[in-house]
Amino acid sequence: MTAQPLLFLIADTGGGHRASANAVRSQFEVDHPGEFDIHIVDPFAGTASPWLRHTTDLYGTVIQHASWMWGALYYSTNSKPAVSLLKSTVLRSVESGLARLCQRLQPAAVVSFHPLLNHVAARAVRRPGVTRVPLITVITDLVDVHAAWACRDVDAVVTPSPGGLDRARRVGIPGERCFPFGLPVDVSFTRPPLTPDQRSALRLKLGVAPDGFVVLLCGGADGSGGIARRARALAKASLPIELVVICGRNRSAQKRLAGLCDHRGSPVAVHGFVNNMAEWVRTADVIATKAGPGTIAEALCCQTPLLLTWYLHGQERGNVDWVVDTGAGRYVPDIDQLVDTVAEFSRPGSPGLARLREAVMRVARPEATADIAELIVSMARGGIVPRS
Ligand code: UDP
Repeated sequence: MTAQPLLFLIADTGGGHRASANAVRSQFEVDHPGEFDIHIVDPFAGTASPWLRHTTDLYGTVIQHASWMWGALYYSTNSKPAVSLLKSTVLRSVESGLARLCQRLQPAAVVSFHPLLNHVAARAVRRPGVTRVPLITVITDLVDVHAAWACRDVDAVVTPSPGGLDRARRVGIPGERCFPFGLPVDVSFTRPPLTPDQRSALRLKLGVAPDGFVVLLCGGADGSGGIARRARALAKASLPIELVVICGRNRSAQKRLAGLCDHRGSPVAVHGFVNNMAEWVRTADVIATKAGPGTIAEALCCQTPLLLTWYLHGQERGNVDWVVDTGAGRYVPDIDQLVDTVAEFSRPGSPGLARLREAVMRVARPEATADIAELIVSMARGGIVPRS
């Protein structure tokens, strides 16, 4: 049997879009080995539009150093007229390349993991010579759904949370095309919980004390949200914790934190971008992070309570309220709040931490990725007919 091609569209802004696409691909490898040939493509890379190129290239730097600028861009484009303007200008530059790719690959379905790429894909598959194939959108934001996610030519839209479903409807996505499955999370985060022995063995492998209270500090793929300041404060405080810092692609923070020692004089583990995030999240007692949707969904699947330290203006504001309202985490934007909460949770038998753990188990959606994969399979095989 020849593997059927599928085209997954992403943009390498942050880590979430690619992580979501990779997660669905991994699920296919488990549930449908050899049946599909999945191509993950970033159509913005190498685009002719300097505006798009600069926006995507500078994303990491902007959110680390001037996140207000991202907020301004997000809110100023969060309306139907603004999205129409983008569609008729900068997004045009991506369309013909994508149409050529569709002609060459002949995918059985196109799945967009990015709000703007829905529109590009919808137009590309309507061009002469290109076959109209099912189009699916997987919303990779958790609660705040930007107007650009609404594209009337898409056949199915996967929504991430009850709040995300409401917002998706409000921005104009018809309810009958919404599939409220949740955010895709890689299979490595959804394995059964570790037994105490497995946890100790994993900690030893990672170089962490088997019995310590492990606090994992991170800030998404770009290590944003003042990670260095927070790491220093936690290291300096007299807390009975093992601190692990993952700076992602934030090389400057990683460099500044090199040689960091805790209050006992022991070195703190500081990493750059890691490819074994699931192991770190599974081994941690608590994760302190910016309110990125990917990290939140992953932590929930690993049953690791959340301390949200920062959010990106725009798409991450609603994530904070959602996490706090579900009881799966606390919002601790001030450094003193962070230190005090870690002190509270690291006390043996902390009731606050126990309450968070219970909530985390309730709200996790470990089945989301398998549901999304089955929806794509069904559409690719003609089970759900694309709109003409
Ligand atoms: N991540 C990773 N290695 C790192 C840091 C982050 O694989 O060193 C992954 C993390 O597991 C998650 C994604 O990057 O899947 C971050 O997504 P999120 O939505 O939290 O934030 P973003 O980076 O998109 O702003």
